[in-house]
Amino acid sequence: MSGGVRVGIVGAGLGGVAAAGLLQRKGFDVTLYDQAPGFSRLGAGIQFGPNVLKILAHLDGLDKKLEEISCLPDYWVSRNGTDGSVLAKIPLNAERERYGAPYITIHRGDLHQAMLDCIEPDRIKWGHKLVDFTDNGKTVSLEFENGSTDSVDILVAADGINSRVREKIFGLEEALYTGWIAHRAIIPGAAAKALGADVNAKWWTADRHIVCYYLDRKEEEFYLVTGEPAEWTSRAGQLPSTREEFKAAFADYHPMVQGYIDAAETVTKWPLKTREPLSKWYEGRVVLLGDSCHPMKPHMAQGAAMAVEDAAVLTRCLSELGVADLDATFEAYYGARKERATKVQSISNANTWLRQPEDPYWCYGDNVYDLKLTS
Ligand code: FAD
Repeated sequence: MSGGVRVGIVGAGLGGVAAAGLLQRKGFDVTLYDQAPGFSRLGAGIQFGPNVLKILAHLDGLDKKLEEISCLPDYWVSRNGTDGSVLAKIPLNAERERYGAPYITIHRGDLHQAMLDCIEPDRIKWGHKLVDFTDNGKTVSLEFENGSTDSVDILVAADGINSRVREKIFGLEEALYTGWIAHRAIIPGAAAKALGADVNAKWWTADRHIVCYYLDRKEEEFYLVTGEPAEWTSRAGQLPSTREEFKAAFADYHPMVQGYIDAAETVTKWPLKTREPLSKWYEGRVVLLGDSCHPMKPHMAQGAAMAVEDAAVLTRCLSELGVADLDATFEAYYGARKERATKVQSISNANTWLRQPEDPYWCYGDNVYDLKLTS
């Protein structure tokens, strides 16, 4: 059913790469396009829950490879930002059997590279910025900024929060600045250890927080990422910041947090943006996934997880329901994903996740391969 069907995926972020790897393994003829000139190792960390690791197992055991190199926190600890008292201690790998897979924290670049390694390299076209496309009902023709063109049977938009594909289908609308930024820094693991760091913790006060965790199995790197109110007027997706600016935003925080920030050499800051949920994720032969259709504040650490879940469910829909009636197949995909993605988007934006004791099973215990698909 899938043999010979040409699928073009725009965007080689975590969602697009997951879709490419999963669709290739189901026999689709996949090409992945990205505007970037090549892979670059973004200096940031990422958490992936058991809900995602269950999917990565379908990429030739990528879950096992990641488990070997990542940090495996037993608990998520929520602390009061000023006095350090514990607000909640939520089992992560301490309840691994119950969730059905591990919870990992890892360097985002290492994760991205490992996922890219699951795709046939000649199927990735770097330096291809999609500027326009035309769906003639039988194929979709693609136009890139570098002057090249291509033709595919199905176009998957995995081109992120400022998606060109979304803009063309649903109209131009700026992403909404939430009024919050994220400071990010990576410090030596030894510095965190000397301060008595938790393996994975989120420190909270009324209007801001800082999340801290190790990025590797040897605990050599420790990651700091915040959420804090601030003005943002630049059009840039990130800007350099300073240790002083970072420290000023957390001046009333516990000495351990002050110590982490003191150890930061390079600090960046990012605007946190979102969008209202879309009422449709497809049009004709074009379908959206990940941040292109449901971007969110990152406060559940599940944005990329939702992109990978989308990729897995879309792959199931295309391979199990077929491509003869794409409206029905894409509606089944949207129907299977909308409620969960919107729930995660809303909790993330509210920034309430795991602040108090709660059972995260509905999120981490989920397995998209158990879903019953209905067309
Ligand atoms: P993106 O990662 O944005 O990828 C889009 C790709 O499309 C890019 O490679 C881009 O170059 C390409 N592209 C864009 N336009 C074009 C075009 N016209 N032509 C060709 N290519 C194009 N999520 C988690 O699951 N866990 C976490 O711990 C976590 N932490 C986060 C921390 C912070 C501070 C932030 C900001 C986000 C975090 N997230 C986390 C969310 C996560 O980063 C995003 O949800 C995720 O990256 C979305 O993946 P995506 O593939 O949909 O889009």
